[in-house]
Amino acid sequence: MNMLKKLFGKSLAYKLSALMTLVVVLTLSIVIGLYIYLEKDFALSSERYQFSFINREFEELISYTAGTDHSIQPGHIIEKLGENASINYITLYDTDGKPVLSSVSGPQQPMSTERLQQLEGLSYNSSITVLSKKSLNYIAPIKLRVSCRKCHANGNIIGFLKISASHSSIYFHTYDMAKKLGFIFLSSLLIFALISIFITEFIVVKPLKEFVALIHKAELNNFLPRTMQPREDEIGEIEENFNQMLSRITNLMATSVEKERELVFVKEELKYKELLEARSEQIEKVNNELEDSVRELSMLYNFGQYIITTVDMNELLRIITTAIVDTLNYKECAILFKEDNLLRIVSAWGFEDNAKLIGIEFGLEEGISGTVASTGKPLLINDTSKESRYLHYKGQIHKEGSFLSVPLKFKNTVIGVLNVSNETPGSLTKKDIDFLTAISAQIAVVIENARLYEQTKELSITDDLTGLFNRRHMRVVLDKEWERSNRYHQPLSLLMIDLDLFKGYNDRFGHLKGDEALAILSQIIRMNIRGIDVPIRYGGEEFLIILPDTSSSGAVATAEKLRRAIAEAFTENSTPMLTISIGTVSYPEQVFDTIHEFLYASDIALYEAKRRGRNTTVKYDGKSMQENNP
Ligand code: GH3
Ligand code: MG
Ligand code: MG
Repeated sequence: MNMLKKLFGKSLAYKLSALMTLVVVLTLSIVIGLYIYLEKDFALSSERYQFSFINREFEELISYTAGTDHSIQPGHIIEKLGENASINYITLYDTDGKPVLSSVSGPQQPMSTERLQQLEGLSYNSSITVLSKKSLNYIAPIKLRVSCRKCHANGNIIGFLKISASHSSIYFHTYDMAKKLGFIFLSSLLIFALISIFITEFIVVKPLKEFVALIHKAELNNFLPRTMQPREDEIGEIEENFNQMLSRITNLMATSVEKERELVFVKEELKYKELLEARSEQIEKVNNELEDSVRELSMLYNFGQYIITTVDMNELLRIITTAIVDTLNYKECAILFKEDNLLRIVSAWGFEDNAKLIGIEFGLEEGISGTVASTGKPLLINDTSKESRYLHYKGQIHKEGSFLSVPLKFKNTVIGVLNVSNETPGSLTKKDIDFLTAISAQIAVVIENARLYEQTKELSITDDLTGLFNRRHMRVVLDKEWERSNRYHQPLSLLMIDLDLFKGYNDRFGHLKGDEALAILSQIIRMNIRGIDVPIRYGGEEFLIILPDTSSSGAVATAEKLRRAIAEAFTENSTPMLTISIGTVSYPEQVFDTIHEFLYASDIALYEAKRRGRNTTVKYDGKSMQENNP
């Protein structure tokens, strides 16, 4: 069974062929079985026919014999007929059933009475066929012919003819036929099996195999191949359907690939969109921050530029406070300087009465400003009405609002405090703290610069415009020379110089031209005096020259030399544009108790020169002159 399964299990061709062969075997077996079954009857009937034929031949021979001269004996007839191959023997019986003649030798059995009775009932034209165990027997009555009456008694029949044939001879034909049929059956079976294998292989299996290969490919996701030859049978229909299915799958796959790609693209797009949105949000935020920063920076820069326009402290403080209020949009602003252990308001802007605030003092740690000055940290008061430390500028300000105080720090040292305030509570934020902290650093630097400038100015001994010594230095020199003159009894002279009608010169040519003239004049002074002489810019357009070791004649000579040189230098088209008046005084030619009296005397002499019409030199000559001058 297993063998069979193995043999037929795999191939459909074998299976189908085996099935068909089985059907054919069964059909042929039934046909052959039926044939053999019927063939026996055919054989019997054909045998019977042959017997009847022999019988007829016998009858003819008999009648021929009887009709003639009996030359031919029945014995010969029997013998002749007995030569028939399919016949075992032939026996003649008389009407009583006794055997009379036989084609074989030896005694023959008489007929049984039943048989005789059976035969008697027959018409002379009929016969009976008896099938015994061993043979087939044909018994027919022998008709009485007229010619027979010569020798035989009256009656219808004269005896019986029994023809006997063996079974084997009857069935031999059938067997032979069966053998032939068997051979045909087997050979046709073989041919059929081969043809059916061949046909199944080529018609069913081969296309099925191709189809299966296609399915395998499809299993491996290769949906592109198709069955090659168009077929019109059911397999072709299946293949066609499968092809359609494959092309639909291919289309579906293509669509799905496309969709997948689209999906990936859409996903990517979505991702980038989200990313872009996040980025643009970030960028917007950064932009806003940048804009704020740029705005702040530009404000800082502008503010910085603005506050460096002057080094004059008062001017600077005014600029800072007004800029904070007018440009940076704070309502009020005040600057407090730290002086020893105090904070003092030095500048205020935006208040109802700014002047009223100047000079108000706070102790360190007093109020918000004091706290900021002592801690060095900014302090923001969102609502001044709720802050007990807020002192309303010592009761000068009664408005409520928000208040911010930042320290002014220079090199980590608090030099003062910058206060701003707004009317609305909560209107100042951390941004304001940051911004004001930034500008407070700038403010502290420019304030320190201004201070330094003031100090330098105080320390310097020369005048910027003319390069001559300044009035502060004059005192030092004058004290020294006065002392030396007294100690060494050396003369000492002073020339007090004032430009004539210089106001008019300024008005005519402008202040800058006036400054230029002052500088040129100073050069001329320097060129026309000795090295030990000390030229001083005494006032705006007033000069003092200290002439050590110089008596009045030398002083007047120097003065005149100077006056002429200047008049000459400023002469245009023979018209002197600028002249000077000079007052001279010499000590101890004129006696003075103090240096102030001595200096004052030079002024008196100058006044006299002016009075005399300008562009002239006047020597101080005692009290009379003093009386003449107011
Ligand atoms: P006078 O002395 O002859 O009586 O007439 P004045 O016009 O010169 O009068 P005064 O001496 O009172 O003049 C002072 C004028 O000098 C005022 C101002 O216009 C001018 N002046 C003073 N200092 C400067 C300065 O530094 N630069 C310039 N350009 N002008 C100055
Ligand atoms: Mg003057
Ligand atoms: Mg003058």
